[in-house]
Amino acid sequence: MECAIGGKLKLLSPSIPSFLNSRRLPWDQLRNKRLTTYKFQIQAQNCFSLEVEVEKGGNLGNFNGESLVWPSPSDEIPFWNKEFPCWDVSSDIPVEVNKDAQLLHIIHVTAEMAPIAKVGGLGDVVTGLARACLLRGHTVDVMLPFYECIIKEQISDLTLITSYNSYHDGSWIPTNAYRGVVSGVAIILIQPTNHFFKGRNVYGGSYNELEAYLFFSRACLEWMQVTGTQPDIIHVHEWQTGALPLLYWDMYHSLSLKKPRIVLTIHNMEHFGECSKEQLDKCGLEGSIYASIDKAVDDRTLGHNPERLSLLKGGIVYSNAVVTVSPSYLKETLCSGWLSSALIKHRDKYIGILNGIDNTIWNPASDVFLPAKFHAQNFEGKKLCKYYVQKGLGLPTGAHVTDMTHKVPLVVCITRLVAQKGLHLIVHAIKRVEELGGQMIVLGKAPDAKVEREFEGLANSYNQGCSIRILLIYSEELSHMLYAAADMVLVPSMYEPCGLSQMIGMRYGAVPVVRKTGGLADTVFDMDDQPNHEMGNGTR
Ligand code: ADP
Repeated sequence: MECAIGGKLKLLSPSIPSFLNSRRLPWDQLRNKRLTTYKFQIQAQNCFSLEVEVEKGGNLGNFNGESLVWPSPSDEIPFWNKEFPCWDVSSDIPVEVNKDAQLLHIIHVTAEMAPIAKVGGLGDVVTGLARACLLRGHTVDVMLPFYECIIKEQISDLTLITSYNSYHDGSWIPTNAYRGVVSGVAIILIQPTNHFFKGRNVYGGSYNELEAYLFFSRACLEWMQVTGTQPDIIHVHEWQTGALPLLYWDMYHSLSLKKPRIVLTIHNMEHFGECSKEQLDKCGLEGSIYASIDKAVDDRTLGHNPERLSLLKGGIVYSNAVVTVSPSYLKETLCSGWLSSALIKHRDKYIGILNGIDNTIWNPASDVFLPAKFHAQNFEGKKLCKYYVQKGLGLPTGAHVTDMTHKVPLVVCITRLVAQKGLHLIVHAIKRVEELGGQMIVLGKAPDAKVEREFEGLANSYNQGCSIRILLIYSEELSHMLYAAADMVLVPSMYEPCGLSQMIGMRYGAVPVVRKTGGLADTVFDMDDQPNHEMGNGTR
């Protein structure tokens, strides 16, 4: 039996009364003991007593860090790049999940999926949503491009299942579909034999991205057609798959795909898939047919020469339901931005559903990347994580993990370094934290060369000092460790459709400090907001 502080319960008495559960145990007494095993008696409703032995520690690891090898900035292999134990989240099944009455077959079609092809929150949400629907009894597949950068070892049971041809620009491209499993979710990877999706990163390869995703959108439908796969729902995400609803209703629905209905989730309306009519022609649709206000034209270019199309707008018009990722972002997008008129017109099928995080994947009590585990009832491991990260990055610590210097607050900011994320506020925070004697770590990657240079300049000067570290890399492992080490997670976005960073921060015991916008306004409530004091969980 697993116990609430993460150790194992061994019942020394053979009979277990059905009403006994772990909440009845004297956890507070237990927490304060520095014992590896602890025996005590449980009095149950005065009718009998039971002797229980608890192995303290268990999942939570050691609390004083005695057996840990402390990292240092001079380590040849940085502490976040070392080998971590395999982690099969699919074996970690939450207990009380009710099955839905109507069970559906859902196929997600997406450019990202965590952890194999993750750039930001889209990847997290696709995996988390797929896993949540699986637990509720649905059949779920995720289709994504077989990017060259995907690490095959992260996929179980990878098998070639279909070789077929899919159309692009007047030719039929030989294409392979592979099946595999990631985090317990069945995936189908689409691999064209041309140059699409080659390169070291998910985005930014030396191929035309828009044309590659047009190809991918059609190749997913073509695969369903050749294999006779008819899901109930095809769930597309973002502009990259915005052409799929057009292809479905104007091409494949009149072939053999009859059953599916299309859901589009918009994770960020800033990227709308600008596309010329000629580019749309390349996937076999007639681009000029879509150049009208009620279809896919970018309203701002109507009557211009040339007019432009938007795959996202096309997706909004042609999908059966359109979802965005928070109620506040729904309101914001109905009130401003050029897509608002299309969204108002399709208001009856447009809904805002707040994103969540996957509590199994993001779980400080079982996270394999953490040097020590912890949870809401026992924070000892969090102190150790902070000490570990401070040591590894050369930030001052106390002489020992139990020293009070851990009281120096540590702020972390884990983000794509793009204008949306409030770059000037991040820079301002770096300065203020240093002035106020705190510590701050920024983990971010800048897709834009100018922003990258700016942050490299900041990193070169601040990283010499003793309170700020700026790391311009993408590292899933380090991100987990930083959330665990943090006292505060900073999310100063100018706009934020939902944001996951603040939720992950809260899950790992850090206080979110955010700008009140979009999904941040829906998830973070000010501690100082007196009338709603009981909702307070951060500051905004
Ligand atoms: P967005 O989707 O706009 O990037 P979110 O807050 O919704 O923002 O999600 C960001 C996700 O990407 C989080 O899981 C965050 O931890 C992760 N992330 C962002 N930058 C990095 C990075 N440099 N290294 C590792 N993870 C990152």
